[in-house]
Amino acid sequence: MNDTPVAADGFATLGLEQALVDAVASLGYEEPTAIQREAIPPLVAGRDVLGQAATGTGKTAAFALPMLHRIGRPRDGARPVRGLILVPTRELAMQVAEAVHKYGRALGVRVLPVYGGQAVRQQMRGLERGADVVVATPGRALDLIRRETLRLDEVTSVVLDEADEMLDMGFAEDLEAILSAVPDKRQSALFSATLPPRILAIAKRHLHDPVRVTIANEKTPAGEAPRVRESVYVVQRRHKVAALARVLDMESPTSAIVFCRTRTEVDELAETLNARGYNAEALHGGLSQEQRDRVMRRFRDGASDVLVATDVAARGLDIEHVSHVVNFDVPSSPDAYVHRIGRTGRAGREGVAITLAEAREQRLLRNIELLTKRKMRVESVPTVHDLRARKLQLVRAALEEALASDAGLDRYRTVVESLAQEYDVLDIAAAAVKLAGEAGDGAPPGDEDDIPAVPVPQAREGRPFTAREPHQRAPRVDGNVLRIYVGVGRLGGIRPGDLVGAIANEAHIPSSAIGAIEIADRFSLVEVPADEAERVIKALRGTTLRGKKIAVRLDRGR
Ligand code: AMP
Repeated sequence: MNDTPVAADGFATLGLEQALVDAVASLGYEEPTAIQREAIPPLVAGRDVLGQAATGTGKTAAFALPMLHRIGRPRDGARPVRGLILVPTRELAMQVAEAVHKYGRALGVRVLPVYGGQAVRQQMRGLERGADVVVATPGRALDLIRRETLRLDEVTSVVLDEADEMLDMGFAEDLEAILSAVPDKRQSALFSATLPPRILAIAKRHLHDPVRVTIANEKTPAGEAPRVRESVYVVQRRHKVAALARVLDMESPTSAIVFCRTRTEVDELAETLNARGYNAEALHGGLSQEQRDRVMRRFRDGASDVLVATDVAARGLDIEHVSHVVNFDVPSSPDAYVHRIGRTGRAGREGVAITLAEAREQRLLRNIELLTKRKMRVESVPTVHDLRARKLQLVRAALEEALASDAGLDRYRTVVESLAQEYDVLDIAAAAVKLAGEAGDGAPPGDEDDIPAVPVPQAREGRPFTAREPHQRAPRVDGNVLRIYVGVGRLGGIRPGDLVGAIANEAHIPSSAIGAIEIADRFSLVEVPADEAERVIKALRGTTLRGKKIAVRLDRGR
């Protein structure tokens, strides 16, 4: 029996003060990320560090925890600045300050963000009241140094975060000036997503014999690459839950694991999904063995269809195969990604791996692609229209089934008969379909709005990840299939639902028998059972799609 939660043991071995270990445990971190494992011990030991890590890897904690460890519990009285963190943007200043505040609260450490764009007087007053850690953009830091409100003579640790960004924004000279204003006898850490020569030159000038830490890109052993459709949805953080819900509705997974970074996130997300009508279970290191067993039993029996889990909790789980792996956040290292999605696409089966990413996490995605040597598709979050179309497909399939079995329809016929005296039977049926389509449409109010697409910024080096690929529907057909070419694509406004609808209506093929659908810009490809292909082609030729006659033939392309 293991009733003790999987505590942040990993963090306990890094040499950090207990209050900090407790702080990360209370935030729901179950184990250090790769960059934290590598950077924290040397920083705690007083070494300088040159780290290559992008946003999303957990690098903030990698430098903030050792900084707080070294500062310790500030004494009463004068509070000189002991830690200085330089960041490129105001957003990052606020974000890093918030993280430092969260980690250092138990120690009573005071942190102050200072950045351009906010009244300098207010920040000066903040500095006069005393701050142990200052998180600053270089321009504003220099301004405050010159006004002699930001005094750096007691600084013991300096961090340059996103150093390449700071150079790109033209802060090179400011950085030099700031670094020469801090005592030589200090600890320095420099973190950057890339390490071009100009960054190495700064490191050479200002870091003393730094320990270099990089998130290793280990090779995936041959033969481990799963057969998985890998998709990315780029969304803003606040739209993530809604986006996840839509993607789940569209994909209707038979079994899915949704990975989150922290226990807190796992609990919250499981709760939100349940409130939205999914059967979700939370699994993390804070559960007793008994609780875990129960969760796993329910998942295996199909009583729950979504398992929301942390990496630690999912490790060593005896789950044979899931249809979908969802990364609610981009995993902190490419290895973690490979490990997670290895739970789908097993034993030659099809799997789907879905990653929700924020625009700023594109570098992590690129690192993953470098490791897997596969491209992820960037897809658009399904619109309300897509979901309605999908819902109607499901209603239609259910109706077909009910009609085929004909069981228990008698008591409804009398209702239809009495309505038929006043209305057209077709209208009655349409109204019934409408009601069935709307039933259980539990989307909370406000979720009608479209989730704004986030423009995917171009990476500075090469393509970030697959820009835009044909839309694909999960293949669901076994046995012999043939691919049909349809001469209209995305530019013609075609959606998978249109094709499914047309084929199902015109050729009378149940939508469940239609396989993969690819929608390219100017054409689409649909897989259908080989023995139905001719009928489908004939039927489609005799109809219109989006109001137009279109070319339809057997695809001999591949
Ligand atoms: P960063 O790369 O510093 O921007 O961190 C990305 C996200 O990961 C933040 O939301 C952190 O709160 C979270 N995070 C950092 N370290 C861990 C960890 N060891 N376990 C779980 N989440 C973490």
